[in-house]
Amino acid sequence: VFASLVQAPEDPILGVTVAYNKDPSPNKLNLGVGAYRTEEGKPLVLDVVRRAEQLLVNDQSRVKEYLPIVGLADFNKLSAKLIFGADSPAIQANRVATVQCLSGTGSLRVGAEFLARHYHQLTIYIPQPTWGNHPKVFTLAGLSVKTYRYYDPATRGLNFQGLLEDLGAATSGAIVLLHACAHNPTGVDPTLEQWEQIRQLMRSKGLLPFFDSAYQVVALVVWWITGGQIENMLGFASGSLDADAQPVRMFVADGGECLAAQSYAKNMGLYGERVGALSIVCKTADVASKVESQLKLVIRPMYSNPPIHGASIVATILKDSKMYDEWTVELKAMADRIISMRKQLFDALSARGTPGDWSHIIKQIGMFTFTGLNGEQVAFMTKEYHIYMTSDGRISMAGLSSKTVPHLADAIHAAVTR
Ligand code: PMP
Repeated sequence: VFASLVQAPEDPILGVTVAYNKDPSPNKLNLGVGAYRTEEGKPLVLDVVRRAEQLLVNDQSRVKEYLPIVGLADFNKLSAKLIFGADSPAIQANRVATVQCLSGTGSLRVGAEFLARHYHQLTIYIPQPTWGNHPKVFTLAGLSVKTYRYYDPATRGLNFQGLLEDLGAATSGAIVLLHACAHNPTGVDPTLEQWEQIRQLMRSKGLLPFFDSAYQVVALVVWWITGGQIENMLGFASGSLDADAQPVRMFVADGGECLAAQSYAKNMGLYGERVGALSIVCKTADVASKVESQLKLVIRPMYSNPPIHGASIVATILKDSKMYDEWTVELKAMADRIISMRKQLFDALSARGTPGDWSHIIKQIGMFTFTGLNGEQVAFMTKEYHIYMTSDGRISMAGLSSKTVPHLADAIHAAVTR
């Protein structure tokens, strides 16, 4: 009965790994998927995650019963605290509805399904460019996707004017997807002053913020993601987490509504465990309670209830201050390696005299560098150098090592001087 089906194309991001796996070359390099790798090119399980798992295994009182539809209560509380702050007025007033979902993607999808059913505006504006899965997640949930300008290829920075113009011209009440931190794929984020202008504009037009927080947790992680550049600004050096005036918290502080989808894939390395949370900040506790009841109606027919293991790991770590601290130390080690890769790649291109300005490699934020290489150059690098990346020229810095930097630099040099 399915004989008339056509073969669907591979996913533009995950398909990179499929192609990589098929390549027999010993020099092949996968810079496609944003997953952390060690200097030896191996996946990393954090020590603190291993310890949390050990504690869970040794606890004979633990059973395998179903979780409630909304997931693990502790996990939900701790996740909301992590993103909104322990002293968040919204949490204190009980006006946040949080549900455990299947990582970031599942949280976005549940949020989108909820909005499609219960919000008066079905248009969602997403940045141009954005993570490749965003348009599909929102369209299939029943929302209508439009874009706002975000990236300026000429400056390899933010097109702030274009962003303000497009959001200024957006249908009043529309939903706006915002990358909370470490924009994927560009690695370009607004400054806090620009965030404040975005907030004022959005609130004045009644635009509903939907934050995608796949890389952000707290100040420490912002600091990690930003390659340490705003360490002092955020007060990390003094041990203060209060100064992490992040965009999400700015939008919560003004008393208005917002949604936030959190993922623990990158910041705890729990990729395949699929751990995430969706929070909806409401005006009152009464509304939040109704929202949660409706979220349950969205979730129940999709997958009934979320898995228990990954959320238990996160809750174990977040509620124990010693383990929490260990987590941040391990994050710092990952950050240091990514920063070092940025420097090494930049130096390698400088040493080769590769034409063009490559300073964005050290300026951009997070796991990825948006190289500026075009589709043709990417195809050349894959064919001749067995280097795999998404066709928009995005490379995962976390997939590089000191050993592979020269190979990548050779390939980039050859691609741009061809
Ligand atoms: N949003 C963005 C911007 C992402 O980059 C990712 C992961 N690459 C996700 C959401 C979702 O990831 P996951 O479902 O693995 O948490």
